[in-house]
Formats: sequence, C-alpha cells, structure tokens
Amino acid sequence: MSDTKIPYKIYLSEDEIPKKWYNLRADMKKKPAPLLDTKTMQPITLEALSEVFCRELAEQELNETDAYIDIPDELIDFYKMYRPAPLIRAYCLEKQLGTPAKIYYKFEGNNTSGSHKLNSSIAQAYYAKKQGLEGVTTETGAGQWGTALSMACSYFGLDCKVFMVKVSYEQKPHRREVMRTYGASVTPSPSETTEVGRQILAEHPGTGGSLGCAISEAVEVAMNSDGRYRYVLGSVLNQVLLHQSIIGLEAKTALDKYGVKPDIIIGCAGGGSNLGGLIAPFMGEKLRGEADYRFIAVEPASCPSLTRGVYAYDYCDTGRICPMAKMYTLGSGFIPSASHAGGLRYHGMNSVLSELYDQGLMEAVSVEQTSVFAAAREFARIEGILPAPESSHAIRVAIDEAIRCRETGEEKTILFGLTGTGYFDMVSYEKFNNGVMTDYIPTDDEIEAAVSKLK
Ligand SMILES: *Cc1c(COP(=O)(O)O)cnc(C)c1O
Repeated sequence: MSDTKIPYKIYLSEDEIPKKWYNLRADMKKKPAPLLDTKTMQPITLEALSEVFCRELAEQELNETDAYIDIPDELIDFYKMYRPAPLIRAYCLEKQLGTPAKIYYKFEGNNTSGSHKLNSSIAQAYYAKKQGLEGVTTETGAGQWGTALSMACSYFGLDCKVFMVKVSYEQKPHRREVMRTYGASVTPSPSETTEVGRQILAEHPGTGGSLGCAISEAVEVAMNSDGRYRYVLGSVLNQVLLHQSIIGLEAKTALDKYGVKPDIIIGCAGGGSNLGGLIAPFMGEKLRGEADYRFIAVEPASCPSLTRGVYAYDYCDTGRICPMAKMYTLGSGFIPSASHAGGLRYHGMNSVLSELYDQGLMEAVSVEQTSVFAAAREFARIEGILPAPESSHAIRVAIDEAIRCRETGEEKTILFGLTGTGYFDMVSYEKFNNGVMTDYIPTDDEIEAAVSKLK
C-alpha cells in the first residue's frame, strides 16, 4: 500500500481496544528465572506472593502459561476515557531529517497523569478494590507513578497514600497538587508518620529524602495496616508488563490495518514496563518464528542496568518486600546521579526483558542526557508534542537510526514508544536551554562497588 494513504494519526475505534492482555512469557521457550521468596530463598509460592500483592495480581505475576488474560470489562470502560491511544506517523520529523526511513510513534501521554503508567495503576487499583482493600501505599520520586495511581484510586474509591521524596515534594508542587486533587494524601518523605521516617530524621535532620527511604515508609504503612492496605509498584514487575501490553497490541492492530511491518522497535527502559508492553506482540511473533524485528532498549548513561549491569538475583524494591528477581541490575543499593529522567532511575530491569536481552533477542544502548534533550527539542519543534525526558531517550535513538538510513539510503520502518509529556519537567528543560545541563556517567569502580554487593 502506498504511503500517501497512511494518515498522520491512526486511531482505532473504541471497540478495537484489546479485550485481553498478552503474556509474552507464554511464548518464551526459556522462561525467566523464578522469583525467590526472600524468607526461604526458594521459588515463591502463590500463597506467599498473595500476601505481597492482591491475589489476582499475584496470579498474573506467576503466570507463564496463558498467552492471553482477559481484561475485566470495568477496566475496558476506564481505558475508553483515554484509549485507544493514537499511533502517529512522524511525517514532519522524517522530512526534517531528510531520511527515507518511515517513523511511527505510539503516544501514551494523552491523559492527565501524562504517561503510560495509568494503564497499570488502574488495573492494580481494580484488583485491590475487588479484593476489598481499603487502599494502597506507594512512593513517588518524579511523580508520574503517584499521579497515575491517585487517578486510578479515586476512580475506584480507594484510599491512596503517596510518600513523595521531600525534595521533589518541595520542587514539584504542581505534581503534588494534581495528586491531592485526585484525593491522594501526599506525605513528604522522610516523615514523622512512620518509625523508619522518624529514625532517618533523627539521624539526618533536614535531609531531602531519597526514593529508598520513601519506599521504606510506604512499605511500613502497608505492613502495619492489618491487611487493609497493600504496597504497590508501577514498573519492573511482570504484572505491570502484562498490563502495558495494551500499548503494543493497539500499535500492532493499527499498523496491520495498513499492512505496515516495523523493522526496528525502540523504547526507553527504566524498569522496563513500557518497552515490554510495546514490544510484546512483536516479540511474540519473533519467538514463534513468524516474523523478525530488531528491538532496542534505550537507557540513560547515568543508570545503565542492561548495558553495564550484571545478570543476577536482586531486590526489586529497596523496601525488600517484593520477592527477588533475576535481572540485569546495578544492585538495589546503586544510587544513580540526579538525572532529569526520574522515571528511568531504576537499578534493575524487568526479568522478562532481562532474559530476552540475555538470549540476544533484544539490543540495548545507553545515551547521555544532553543528547536526549537535544532530540527532545528537535522533536517538540517539528512534531509539536513536548516529550517527557524519559520518552526522549527513545526519540534520540529513533532519530539516530533514521539518520543512519539517510546515510545508507535504506527505507527502514521505525516504531518507537512516546511514553509521556514533559510539562512537569520544565526545570530540566530550563537547564538544557540555559546550556547548564551536565552528563554524569558512573565510573567502572562505582558500578563495581554497587554490583559487588550482589555476589
Ligand atoms: C516511568 C516512566 C518511564 C519508565 O518506566 P518503564 O517502566 O521503564 O516504562 C518512561 N516514560 C515515562 C513518561 C515514565 O513516566
């Protein structure tokens, strides 16, 4: 089919929203290593995992056999508020770059939380409600996850307690107020409301807090709630990847309508949920031998878990409440520098993606933040959307691949995930615009020091 027939935006209709999530693990011949119970160091049982997650989420976490899992009707109704998400052909960017490549992106920023995280927060809130919980607790650094979770909880009438790293709480008052508007209680961490918070404050008066500390507070509140609250996570878990498969399923349906097959699929990778969701149906075809694609994970040079980490068992959360997962990791004690892509500052990588990478089925690259912001600015100026710094990692590599096509004359089709918008990241853009943004790349010694604790 000729290009002229492909619109700038491919919108699906509401009844084309997927009715099932796709579980990539079902098609993996060699499965990811099992999650380990931190108490016994044995593969975790459904019973034990159900104490950490809601029952149905625990089942999803362990399910390696069902390729498709029904999306409850109540969730599909919620998804209809902001889905299907458009698949956009970047005609303007292609022209600007003078590339024969064809570039498509799946845009997940069309909701108030401004990112794909709502796809999973709403599912987690639904199962929490169904199980009769009173609410959930979580931490938030940059704020996207806290915002997405507060929207989901307000919809299902659940209480939402967010511990927000104190410096972010003070520096990002707007994100904080969005969460409060949706009914969440937002506590700057460390706080006087928890044992661990009081302890940290006594030792470090005036501290601005850290993600690890916020997690510990959120975990403590859930653990002391007599089962009324659960601690929830917005990335890295297999259940989150499963929920995010809606991104890839919609993208594939849209491309299939026009007979388009991508050659290269690119996503930014923090804990791996958007990337895992975007590539899921395509990777499924590759695993079943039906088609071939190149997959590229893009991570920040400041937090390079795939490209410089080790493949080992590690804690998923610094609160050490979740089971251990075998993954590419820098060590849960690794503290990345304060980069401007807060959503990518995660020490490890989802275990499915880690295993696919280890099997050579997916590539990974790391990029520096000044070049990421240069790509973000170029993209904003020509495509109109102001991208989140996290998403701009994928933009950087999509542009690089398109430039390579210009040099070789190859007409490759590139698909990337545009996970969100950057309206709350203007302090970072300001640094970039003023030419004062720096790139921090950890030294081999720093990485060695962090991963040596795993061995
Ligand atoms: C959280 C976030 C990410 C990274 O998380 P993944 O789980 O790796 O997808 C990417 N983009 C945006 C906009 C985010 O908020």
